[in-house]
Amino acid sequence: MIRKLISSLLAAGALATTAYAADTELNLYTARHYQTDEALYANFTKATGIKINRIEGKEDALLERIKNEGDNSPADVFITVDASRLAKADELGIFAPVASKMLDERIPAHLRSDTWYAFSTRARVIVYNKADVDPALVQNYEDLARPELRGVVCTRSGSHPYNLSLGAALIQHDGAEATEKWAAGVVANFARDPRGGDTDQIRAVAAGECGVAIANSYYVARLINSTKPEDQKVIKAVGIIWPNQKTWGTHVNVSGGGMLKHAPHRQAAVKFLEYLASDEAQAYFANGNNEWPAVPTVEISNPALDSLGDFRSDDLNVGLLSKTTAEAQKIYDRAGYR
Ligand code: FE
Repeated sequence: MIRKLISSLLAAGALATTAYAADTELNLYTARHYQTDEALYANFTKATGIKINRIEGKEDALLERIKNEGDNSPADVFITVDASRLAKADELGIFAPVASKMLDERIPAHLRSDTWYAFSTRARVIVYNKADVDPALVQNYEDLARPELRGVVCTRSGSHPYNLSLGAALIQHDGAEATEKWAAGVVANFARDPRGGDTDQIRAVAAGECGVAIANSYYVARLINSTKPEDQKVIKAVGIIWPNQKTWGTHVNVSGGGMLKHAPHRQAAVKFLEYLASDEAQAYFANGNNEWPAVPTVEISNPALDSLGDFRSDDLNVGLLSKTTAEAQKIYDRAGYR
């Protein structure tokens, strides 16, 4: 009896120590691997004394790893790209809610959910061949299904999260029935079966193999910033459209992250998430991948992005996109959009 009492007292003492001792390190699982992130982490360590142990990996592989590690996962914070992946992480129950006035004040409501925060945004734009396609034909995502575009549309796989998130947004704005018709129309308009990434689509548009494609804004910005003559040739041949300016706004996706349920360093995790929302970190985080900061008051100077001009973005909550992602996948499957 006494032994039991002592051991439970000891356990309580041990717990108290863990809870109140300041964390000296942080285990970060991240799908981001940009050079500017190095400065980001170094500055955090300098400001807080907290060392960052970084585990890098592909988005889906990292999520799988956290799932498999379960209760024993050393991960404190998980950062990934795409709202549907963040939503999947959420559904798996790996995140823990963070109570932070700072985060709630800095990150706009439509760019966070109950458990994760977006730290940067990217837009899904329409790219067209300036010599072959009249831009008036493709001012909206919905236009990609119009019969005038038979044999000219290219996209990456329909099951890629970027296209699923776009489909999820279309369902919420136009309805499932219209989105199903749209998907069938897009498939009927394909210049070729989906393959490659977004940059491959932009290159194929420039080469004339496709007339129109969709791509994330940072891939366009990367080509604009490239000093390679072949990339400059690509950029000169294509025009960029912010879709749906007269209707619901251009579809926007995010990079983001949250604290994990089994995080061993919870104080450090919250400190790090708050740091990512600071002016300094926001600029690094967004600029590192030619994205926009999630915090609206933070300005970045990125000539490639500036050259694309201003646009109106969809203000649908990115956390809500996940509500229709599974439906988007079913619609794409039935339409043969693979
Ligand atoms: Fe990407």
